[in-house]
Amino acid sequence: MNKDGCIFCQIASGELPAEKVYETARVVAFKDIRPQAPVHILVIPREHIETVNHIQPEHRELIGEMFLAAQEIAKKFGVADSGYRTVFNCNRDAGQDVYHLHLHVLAGRKMTWPPG
Ligand code: AMP
Ligand code: ZN
Repeated sequence: MNKDGCIFCQIASGELPAEKVYETARVVAFKDIRPQAPVHILVIPREHIETVNHIQPEHRELIGEMFLAAQEIAKKFGVADSGYRTVFNCNRDAGQDVYHLHLHVLAGRKMTWPPG
């Protein structure tokens, strides 16, 4: 899907509501609507990038900023020390449903490994 009709572009712009927990000029983070853990936040770039496969060299800093956001969010929710999982799902086999890059930040329970 292109950026027209992309729900995460709409959340980033404020057209669609979301429970935002962190925002910078380039990155937005909000609570996942179907949380898979007590803490489940999605970190997205404001720029529409479809999948990990679409990340370009010029996005290096942006991707770093997404992880710095995850770190801040972990601190804010008190899980930096207890631990958290960061996940990018890419394409069908990984279960990607929304084709706007997003970093899942999951915490607040013991995670299993390997993932299902
Ligand atoms: P993925 O399967 O990696 O593409 O993850 C997409 C995630 O987006 C899922 O965990 C959904 O629960 C979540 N999601 C879908 N729509 C919304 C929404 N409107 N607000 C918040 N989270 C959403
Ligand atoms: Zn988008």
